[in-house]
Order: sequence, then structure tokens, then C-alpha cells
Amino acid sequence: MSLPTEETLRCALAAAARALHARGWAANHDGNATARLGDGRLLCTPTAMSKAEVQPETLLVLDADGAVLSGSRRPMGELHLHRAAYAARPDIGVVLHSHPPHLCAFACAGIALPHPFLAEAVVSLGAEVPWVPAAAPGDTALDAGLQAALQKADVVVLGGHGLLTVGGSPEQALLRMELVEHLARIAWLALPMGGVKPLAEALVASLSAKGRPASVPSFGEAPTAGASKPADPWRAAELPAARPDPRQVVVDALRRFGG
Ligand SMILES: [Zn+2]
Repeated sequence: MSLPTEETLRCALAAAARALHARGWAANHDGNATARLGDGRLLCTPTAMSKAEVQPETLLVLDADGAVLSGSRRPMGELHLHRAAYAARPDIGVVLHSHPPHLCAFACAGIALPHPFLAEAVVSLGAEVPWVPAAAPGDTALDAGLQAALQKADVVVLGGHGLLTVGGSPEQALLRMELVEHLARIAWLALPMGGVKPLAEALVASLSAKGRPASVPSFGEAPTAGASKPADPWRAAELPAARPDPRQVVVDALRRFGG
């Protein structure tokens, strides 16, 4: 497994930022994305820019204290959330934040996402989708709450606000965000039918017994010299063909644990 080059990571992070907008999760200047480089440096989307406009060359490079090392714009105000996440999780390489509408409907109504109700999601996300209460700007309780939540999960609902996900790569963090929004949409659709029903505790225990998938740092192979820029991984026709079938993952898990 190879670590991504900075060029590969810039392309992948910019593509993930554009995907936040393309999927309707980041209106106006909402949403932000960072990736960890070596020496404590971060790649970072700039503030006051639509995520539809983010290109590899518009990403900022920040030092370990959050100061801009390269790039002509300023970092976003929610940078403290990203830095808190990296401090809490040495294994992650990417943090994404956005406002997916169905998830935000729950977060802003003060209603917890009724996870777990779908077996595949337990395999992919674990048994918990933690919630961190809203806090006033500058209140360190939000960062501390986020760090505690990230010990239990790779996706965290920010009360009255949105969603933060982490991963080893932009792809992994985006897929986790996609899954949480998918769950929120299903839960919302089921409300007129009485709401989703929680999975049996024994099944949840079986599905989550092996723990959450690791945050995998590799994002494809580094480009060879003279090669064109890496393809935009979020274009449907270019999604990796080798993604596991989630139903097969569940079947395999049930077989392993005798469910
Ligand atoms: Zn936000």
C-alpha cells in the first residue's frame, strides 16, 4: 500500500471538496476539507469559496499551528474542529465537514439519528453515530466533545449544525459522509410509516464485534513522472470497481459470528 504524494492528495482532496457541493451538502461557502501532510502540515480548503470552485492549486498549506505557509487566501473558521480531530486520531489523514440536508434536519431538530437500523451501516460505521452538542464560538467544549466522540466513531453529528467525518483518504471520509446522509434520508422517509425500527442488540453486537474498518491512508497509486493529473475519483464512471458489495460484507460477518 503506497502513501499518496502531495499532488495526488491535492487532487483527491479538491475533488472531495467539489463533491460536497455537487451532492448538495455545502451551499454558499459551507463545508470544508483538510488532509494531513508530513511534519504536522495540513492541506486546507480556503474560506469564502464555494466548494464547487476548489481546485488542487487553490488549497492552502498550513503549519502545525494553523498559520498559512502557502496559498493566497485564509483558512476557514471551523479549522479548530479539524485540528482537534487530528490531535485525537493519529491514524486519520483527512477530515471533512458539511451540512447534508437530511442529516442536518435531525441535527437541527435536536433529534438523534436512529442508528443502528441498517445492518450494512453497522459494519461500515460501527454501532454508534455520536452526537456533540452545539457550543458557542470559542467554547472549547465542542472540540473536547468531538475528540471524545472520535474515540468511538469516524462520523460525528454536530448538534444544530452538521456532520464531520474522518478517514485515511478523501475517498474514505466522503464515503462515510455519504452513508450517514443516506441513513438520515431513509430515517426521514420512514417517519410517516412510524419510523425505522432499531436492529436487535444481538445482531448489532455480532456485526460490530470486529470493530470499525481502519482508516486506510492510501489513495490509489502515486502518478508516474510525465503522467496526466489523477482522474477525478468522484465521477461515477471512474469510481473504483473493486468496492466490496455491502450485502456480501454483512453475509460474511453473519457467517463468521454464527448469526
Ligand atoms: Zn459548518
